[in-house]
Amino acid sequence: MKIITDLQEMYKHSICLKKTHKISFIPTMGALHNGHLSLIEKAYYNNKNSKIIVSIFANPSQFTNFEDFAKYPDTIDSDIKKLKEFEISKNIQIDCVFIPEKNNDFYSNKKYPQLQKFNINKSEIILPQFFSESEGKTRKGHFEGVFQVLFRLFYIISPDYSVFGQKDFQQTLLVQYLQKQYFPHLEIIIADICREKSGLAMSSRNKRLSAENKNKAKILYQALQTKKIETIRTILESEKLIEKIHYIEIRNTTTFELMDKKVMNEVSVILLSVQFAGIHLIDNILI
Ligand code: AMP
Repeated sequence: MKIITDLQEMYKHSICLKKTHKISFIPTMGALHNGHLSLIEKAYYNNKNSKIIVSIFANPSQFTNFEDFAKYPDTIDSDIKKLKEFEISKNIQIDCVFIPEKNNDFYSNKKYPQLQKFNINKSEIILPQFFSESEGKTRKGHFEGVFQVLFRLFYIISPDYSVFGQKDFQQTLLVQYLQKQYFPHLEIIIADICREKSGLAMSSRNKRLSAENKNKAKILYQALQTKKIETIRTILESEKLIEKIHYIEIRNTTTFELMDKKVMNEVSVILLSVQFAGIHLIDNILI
């Protein structure tokens, strides 16, 4: 497993790989957990001969405030160790892990003049209205930031496949939107949500919860499993650690239209987003 930190080097390496292999790409923001590893495994079983590239980059442009960005767990050494252990235990080879340096170089046209064409300004990104709803409403500018970083990463790495988790449901729609607009040959693969034994959806943000609070956070999934908006709300309101319920919504899985709570069919998803003990947590369940 090579470690690449320079964007230009990553670009050259991908061009080289593409001559002989397909590329499977798994973007992450680090603080890796089994959910992330499940995406790598999914990539491998989707195409065993493809070269697997994992990126670790906490993209500043997708955070709504600096405080949240500054608090985002940074565990790069243990992330690399986890990836190496994963390779051995699963007998799956990761070709390289791309870890851009932690400064503004990633988007710098000055540092990477040849890669300027693979940059898009956040202010130029106009997304369909529904990306300003749900997570896009709670975290203004978040999806434009995700679009910006994936636009650059997809051009630089030029993957054939890229795997994303259903955990970030609205993000999967954003990725599919980006793919349709700019990357018609890229195949997007969506992986199931990995959960702790308690049912809590794995998340890098869980690292900021005490063991006791992490256990209490299982209430999110317990509530979701009732699949009834009013019941979910009642359950969540009973938990003192939930400081704010940002939203509990039923939406169409394709169009993301809000659905009447009485209309439950197989193409809908219940999404929730809360502030739990100072941490932003999201989860969802398909109906
Ligand atoms: P992140 O590092 O949080 O940006 O996540 C990187 C990728 O891992 C995204 O595609 C996420 O949807 C996915 N992911 C995060 N948590 C989970 C989980 N619990 N199960 C499956 N995939 C996940």
